[in-house]
Amino acid sequence: MSVVFAVPKESATGERRVAVVPEVVSRLTKAKHEVRVESGAGHEARYPDADFTAAGAKVVGDRASLYGGAQVVLRLQPPTNAELRGVAEGTVLVGLLNPSRNLDGVGRLRDAKLTSFALELLPRITRAQSMDVLSSQATVAGYRATLIGAELAPKFFPMLTTAAGTIRPARVLVLGAGVAGLMAIATAKRLGAIVEAYDVRRAAGEQVRSLGAKFLELQINAEGGGGYARELNDAEKAQEAEMLAKAVAEADVVITTAAIPGRRAPILLRKEMVARMHDGSVIVDLAAETGGNCELTKVGETLEVGGVTIAGPVNLPSQLPFHASQMYARNLESFVRLLLDPQGSLLTDYTDEILAASLLTRGGAVAHKPTADLLAAGGKG
Ligand code: NAD
Repeated sequence: MSVVFAVPKESATGERRVAVVPEVVSRLTKAKHEVRVESGAGHEARYPDADFTAAGAKVVGDRASLYGGAQVVLRLQPPTNAELRGVAEGTVLVGLLNPSRNLDGVGRLRDAKLTSFALELLPRITRAQSMDVLSSQATVAGYRATLIGAELAPKFFPMLTTAAGTIRPARVLVLGAGVAGLMAIATAKRLGAIVEAYDVRRAAGEQVRSLGAKFLELQINAEGGGGYARELNDAEKAQEAEMLAKAVAEADVVITTAAIPGRRAPILLRKEMVARMHDGSVIVDLAAETGGNCELTKVGETLEVGGVTIAGPVNLPSQLPFHASQMYARNLESFVRLLLDPQGSLLTDYTDEILAASLLTRGGAVAHKPTADLLAAGGKG
């Protein structure tokens, strides 16, 4: 049995990625599935319609031809009301649906009676690694963050020995050494900077050191469930601020990536700490979208405060849309394989641990209990 997949053009402001790339289309169509792609869907990520057609996709110009008879919609961002028009009840929709911060959107998926899977909810188990869109997109974000820091800094990153004398290397400090932070560290090292990093999870130390950076150690280990960090208590926060103050004051570029799942990003850089940074130093706050790691960050803006440039970029993966889309599409392909039985038909029972954990809505109800509780508490949707 073959399945009909639909890939819409994303409409969110600033979104340049596409959920599926020609390489993945080609594997799906070889397996006798039909893939419909909305015309122009890959344009901004540099995947022209012609490449999708060559890979076996049907490139369609209107939503009725895209969704009519489609069983699975593959996308990136949560759909708007307008984007759900024409998607039939019972259709499977997979994407980054941002459940904890987009309750209205969850309500829309529920009311449209779609079977939706939110890729943020994938359990971080070994078997799910090939589907882990949070990791692949964080890799892109970490890389871009370092390049933004290098661009905004008035200094070279590498040490140079030239006829004009020796140039000292820049000092880069990375706060939060998860997937994005490690990529930021690796990129800054490749550019020749002196790199220091800090994380509340002690396990991150080994990974930081293996990249050739120095790990700033605090006598705290805040490793929570699932390899994530837990929130620090007030005494721990004070200890953390004291230790970080010196490293922050000495840095030319501070890249912050600290996050706690489902919560506001922890504040690591208070305005007093920024005030002690030297003229021309830079902060790139990757946590801007979840409240910011720096008290002074303004989401989506780059501002200067007392000689310190503070960037709060949003949707960094979209700034590298070709590879971000390719990685996302490969993750999605792995996930889709789980949704198919050996004959290539769509499964209807989601007993697999990965499917069960990421199922968000089904048959007019919210299947993910924490999100259902949030909706009930907020009365939204
Ligand atoms: P994340 O985006 O949730 O957080 C980024 C980092 O911020 C984390 O390393 C966290 O420890 C850190 N942080 C939180 N509070 C902090 C504070 N007050 N000060 C400094 N740092 C703070 O994390 P992530 O990048 O998604 O990865 C988190 C963990 O999950 C890592 O251990 C990673 O190796 C693991 N992981 C596992 C898999 C898998 O097994 N499939 C896949 C990806 C990541």
